[in-house]
Amino acid sequence: MTDRYAVIGNPIAQSKSPQIHSAFAKVTGQDIDYTKLLAPLGGFAAAVDAFRAAGGRGMNVTAPFKLDAFAYATDLAPSAQMAGAVNALKFEGDKVHAENFDGVGLVRDLVHNLGCPIKGRRVLILGAGGATRGALLPLLAEQPAELVIVNRTVSKAQALAALAQQHQSGKVPVHAAAYADVVGVFDVVLNASSSSLTAELPPLPPSVFSPDCLAYDLTYGKGLTPFLKLAQQAGVTRLADGVGMLAEQAAEAFAWWRGVRPDTAGVIQQLTVPLV
Ligand code: NDP
Repeated sequence: MTDRYAVIGNPIAQSKSPQIHSAFAKVTGQDIDYTKLLAPLGGFAAAVDAFRAAGGRGMNVTAPFKLDAFAYATDLAPSAQMAGAVNALKFEGDKVHAENFDGVGLVRDLVHNLGCPIKGRRVLILGAGGATRGALLPLLAEQPAELVIVNRTVSKAQALAALAQQHQSGKVPVHAAAYADVVGVFDVVLNASSSSLTAELPPLPPSVFSPDCLAYDLTYGKGLTPFLKLAQQAGVTRLADGVGMLAEQAAEAFAWWRGVRPDTAGVIQQLTVPLV
């Protein structure tokens, strides 16, 4: 019987996950059925219960249900615990295994696809929401020289910096700052704020970009966002958006479910919107 998977969210029409996982199934020869599941707000647990009862094997979880999935899980992986949110579930009998692959997907895109090593480099990350929280440990595992978190609401950046220090016992210096107080230049600047969803420019001084910096916007499919334009105007030539991160976190989930890791190049090519 064909194994069933789904992505659950509200709204869900925009999700690229069925397209991505169908492509992965094709290249790996796996027989799966992957659909979109729209759950009503407040109806996450009932929708997942019904999916499991009908034989569902696993799910991707998107907004606004990542915290509901955290609460629903019986077995949380360290990545999910650290992120405080879940983006993938695997069902085995009564067990609900939960993971968060966003951070590992980001790092894999940076290091493997874009050839941008993190080790020994100065990294600046904008935003202190779920995406930054999930990215912290995978980024720190690469041993950057320093990680600075900048956020509009500084207290949130401070809380995440403290959490990161606690989890990696201070090996990599992690600092928090307000936009107006960011000093120095960075080798990698990551926009993990949601500013690009509304075409807004975070109040970032253009002096933060080193000449050979990589500027990376986690938001994908929006072309040259105001953040990427700022970097370009500051002389940065290495620009990327989060399409590779999307594909890589999906590949991690696929490998977790199916035991085979698909190549992501075809999916990244399919989904890439040119940065113009
Ligand atoms: P959250 O809602 O959890 O956090 C949003 C963050 O953005 C907050 O820190 C907020 O600051 C900040 N912010 C919002 N608007 C602005 C603005 N105009 N200027 C400066 N800062 C702003 O979102 P997530 O962390 O879940 O997601 C962040 C982005 O990452 C989204 O665009 C999302 O699409 C993308 N993403 C991409 C993924 C991928 O696979 N490529 C995966 C996950 C996320 P404050 O705290 O002050 O309100």
